[in-house]
Amino acid sequence: MKYISTGDFNPEAVEIPLGSFINGELIQGAGDELDIFRPSDGKLAGTVRQANAADVERAVSGAKQALEVSNWARLAPRARGEIMRNWARLLDENAEYLSRLEALSSSRPIKECRDRDIPASADMIRYYGEWTDKMTGDTFASANAIFNTTIREPYGIVGAISPWNVPILLATVKFAPALAAGNAVVLKPSEMTPFSAIAFARLAVEAGLPAGLFNVLVGTGEVTGHPLVIHRDISFVAFTGSTKTGQRIMTDCALSGPKPVSLELGGKSPQIVFDDVSDLDRVANAITAGMTRNSGQLCFCGSRLVVQNGVADRLLEMVLSKLHTIRSGPTWSETTGMPPIISDLQRRRILGILSQSDAAVRNTLTGGNSYDLHGGKYFEPTIVMDVPTSDALFSEEVFGPVLAVQRFDDFDEGLRLADHPDYGLTASVHTSSIDRAMAAARRIEAGTVWINNFGRTADVSSPFGGFKRSGFGKEFGREGYEKYLKTKAIWFQGVETVQ
Ligand code: NAD
Repeated sequence: MKYISTGDFNPEAVEIPLGSFINGELIQGAGDELDIFRPSDGKLAGTVRQANAADVERAVSGAKQALEVSNWARLAPRARGEIMRNWARLLDENAEYLSRLEALSSSRPIKECRDRDIPASADMIRYYGEWTDKMTGDTFASANAIFNTTIREPYGIVGAISPWNVPILLATVKFAPALAAGNAVVLKPSEMTPFSAIAFARLAVEAGLPAGLFNVLVGTGEVTGHPLVIHRDISFVAFTGSTKTGQRIMTDCALSGPKPVSLELGGKSPQIVFDDVSDLDRVANAITAGMTRNSGQLCFCGSRLVVQNGVADRLLEMVLSKLHTIRSGPTWSETTGMPPIISDLQRRRILGILSQSDAAVRNTLTGGNSYDLHGGKYFEPTIVMDVPTSDALFSEEVFGPVLAVQRFDDFDEGLRLADHPDYGLTASVHTSSIDRAMAAARRIEAGTVWINNFGRTADVSSPFGGFKRSGFGKEFGREGYEKYLKTKAIWFQGVETVQ
């Protein structure tokens, strides 16, 4: 659904739900106070008391009871789907408020929230509502008196942990399929960007989702996330965030279960450009978007350009001129192309990686600095040339608007450079040759390969997820639904002969 723009907004005028959403109520946690800031101007958005281990216990036991009382897992599948569709409709009706709430405490410009994040989240809830009655089991060859089949059952209570960079979309891609499949969910969004998830949860109850089935706990990884992950009644953990935190969560799932976990982790995604491209302007747009969208704070940010020598200089010239046309600004302005960096800590992290990079010291084509604007922290779009594979800018995920460039002569060299030893989330290949495109798509070790494009469309049906240290366990599409179901084999024993 397309939402209509109502222009810039005043962040002071947006109602913010402060607290955690437990058993259908907005309440303050029992933990310490947590200040949540607006990255666009550094001002306080609000203060909440964090949900601690006691609140995790309350949310998980409430979810367990809600599952039993509501019979959610055993409802007629289409009845669950109907509630999901009602929920999506309410999200559509409240789209402007939800878009503003999301933009307020995150780095997502209002236009992106209104045109992508909120409609795609509503659509995802609708989409997974449609999956409720589409999942089938199998029947197996067996001896005559035996009938052997499988059915799919929900896990029970799913613990979902999501990051700050595209807050609501990356949370919805967990709670929507998990709930549609018949589970309850306890979500811990990033402590920097929790508000939109709470607003979504409130509307879920209004749409008919039994209270207690979807809880949102606000707090840090240590105070809230850790007790959630290790809770013995959490049967599945779905995580999106950094590779380092993912390693810790997988260890915690092993020691407290073992329990299954899905990990959507970091990336260092290349865009590979061959010199046969027919429309260099289109490629320049893809490279520019790849490094500047959300100011590079995207897991699939196109942070590496691997470009064939014949076209490298011209392409970089075009990218440079496009970078000058992108406006930085607060998330509440309609004209913002490059939003603020989420926090001062993240800004310093970007600067730290650049300072460790020999290539950045010697070979920065443009940018390299951060600056303040109306109280927010911003980063110049930065291009560093001829980054060797031994350099920090090649090995580290920067999570900022920084492009590392490598040049090559022939196909094999290009693909060798594109391959990353650690990450394998996405890659783009730009070429006019269908043979090169096919060969590259098959050879690149990444969970998604875009040909002559960069980035996902609003379509939610194609699976997404990384290879290597970018994680495992897909989100979106059919696979993103199936993972919230476990398979049970049932053997019916009859008599050998019936009279
Ligand atoms: P992060 O790992 O710091 O935090 C992610 C979430 O985990 C937050 O909610 C945080 O509070 C929580 N957390 C931290 N420690 C925890 C613990 N011990 N137990 C439980 N929860 C804990 O990541 P971030 O800075 O919020 O997000 C940026 C990272 O996310 C980047 O590395 C980015 O590439 C990655 N990311 C990946 C994808 C993907 O689909 N692959 C999508 C978006 C972001």
